[in-house]
Amino acid sequence: MLSQLTARPSDIPLKNLYNLLEPITKLGQSFVCTPSAIFEPENEFQCELVLELARREGKKLRVSGVGHSPSDLAMTNEFMLRTIKLNRVLEVNTEKRYVVAQGGITLNDLNAQLAKNNLAMITLGSISDQSLAGIVATATHGSGVSYGVISTNVMALSLLLADGSRVTCSRSEHSDLFMASICGLGATGIILSVQVEMEPAFRLKEMQQSLPFEDVVQNMDKLARSAEHARFWWFPSKDIIRCSYSNRTTEARNPAGSWLWNSFFGFHAIQFLLFIGRYFSFVNTWTGKFACWLASGDSIGVDDSYKIFNVDCRYPQHTTEWAIPFENTQACLREFRDFLRKEYQDPNGIRPHFPVEIRFSASDDIWLSPSYGQLTTWIGIVQYKPYGFNVPYRRLFEAFEDIVIRHRGRPHWAKAHPLGTDSLRKLYPHFDDFKRVIDKVDPDAIFCNEYVQRHIMGKPIDPRLFRAFKQHS
Ligand SMILES: Cc1cc2nc3c(=O)[nH]c(=O)nc-3n(C[C@H](O)[C@H](O)[C@H](O)COP(=O)(O)OP(=O)(O)OC[C@H]3O[C@@H](n4cnc5c(N)ncnc54)[C@H](O)[C@@H]3O)c2cc1C
Repeated sequence: MLSQLTARPSDIPLKNLYNLLEPITKLGQSFVCTPSAIFEPENEFQCELVLELARREGKKLRVSGVGHSPSDLAMTNEFMLRTIKLNRVLEVNTEKRYVVAQGGITLNDLNAQLAKNNLAMITLGSISDQSLAGIVATATHGSGVSYGVISTNVMALSLLLADGSRVTCSRSEHSDLFMASICGLGATGIILSVQVEMEPAFRLKEMQQSLPFEDVVQNMDKLARSAEHARFWWFPSKDIIRCSYSNRTTEARNPAGSWLWNSFFGFHAIQFLLFIGRYFSFVNTWTGKFACWLASGDSIGVDDSYKIFNVDCRYPQHTTEWAIPFENTQACLREFRDFLRKEYQDPNGIRPHFPVEIRFSASDDIWLSPSYGQLTTWIGIVQYKPYGFNVPYRRLFEAFEDIVIRHRGRPHWAKAHPLGTDSLRKLYPHFDDFKRVIDKVDPDAIFCNEYVQRHIMGKPIDPRLFRAFKQHS
């Protein structure tokens, strides 16, 4: 290494160049793109104009919501249409319990408007920063063995197709287009508005406790089914799983305060320790134990549904998440734990961040939904980027991916993954139906950005094209 510091920069091999720069690399974003034009239409007519321009100029048009997908799914170097100004609620029907809203509305704004009308989303994921169309296009999920991915609550969509026509689709009208679009990766058209089934506003009572890994994994079937919304966070360095069980309740609001973990001290101390862990990876083990201890007491809280569904995702992060058949959960988690144990025994082994998140969704019939045809367990891992600085993640993620793939894993579409068309076709019985719909409604592939070309069309597009940092172990 010393000799490299005295070498001319042009003589240093590329991989070593990345390694040398790692300690001073500061990056908030994992993926970046430079579209040739970015449009922020304020009405549907302006969407039509943008589409017309893209067609005449022969440009790809990628629709993006908030751009929260941790991959190049919402990226392009050609035309980008951002929907953030298409953010109105168009209809509220409290009697029939549905809402029609423009695709660009964020869930945060939608939650607030729903609360005013005594309605609520039936389920939600960890955050509400995303756009409504963004969560629909990626089959975003919450947790609960009887609750499908959020797209299962979609009743109808209004789409602007590549030829400039508008179409409303649902299970009974243009049903193929509907089944393709409610997890459509932005490839079937621009989602102008979404009709979503709602529930009367409700509160959730959440109980949390920490249990040893084996106690949870052995009883996984029972525990996952023991609440409407069960979810688990595993701290591998301590072999403890934090269990969360939430059920609808009529009890009065009484939020649980996890003071230490939520406090200034907990947040900042852990971020600082994660930063030290960039240089001395063994520190990560102790940071994991410390975070596990901060969150260890039993807790009970009652709050509005969306406040319980959403959690604090803390720091910028690399992340990957996979959906496996529920029946493979125990074997898959044990295999991953065996892998991590070997790494902990190796002085130079991986010292992963925490937690490993374990959630569930009911089986559905949406063509590209990772829950298609199977009760599903979602397993997600993270490597945080303290203060936005990069950290190694590839070796951990690749080992994890090998394991989940062996357990018939399907990747979360919004998160970067290595699967090509051959593998995906085997995992999704309607994969070719999806392609057929795209070929029909978008023969010139205007809406097929690089991600869609790579994973759906089988084109050899470099997965690192939009990586902010092209190579990292
Ligand atoms: C901190 C964090 C927490 C998360 N938690 C969860 C979770 O709990 N569960 C889960 O399943 N996922 C989760 N995700 C993933 C997230 O829900 C998805 O990435 C979601 O798509 C982001 O919405 P967005 O508005 O940012 O969409 P973007 O990232 O902008 O776009 C995502 C896709 O939607 C398409 N799209 C967006 N708007 C339209 C439109 N109007 N018409 C057609 N296509 C459109 C885009 O083309 C693209 O294919 C999380 C992500 C982050 C960063």
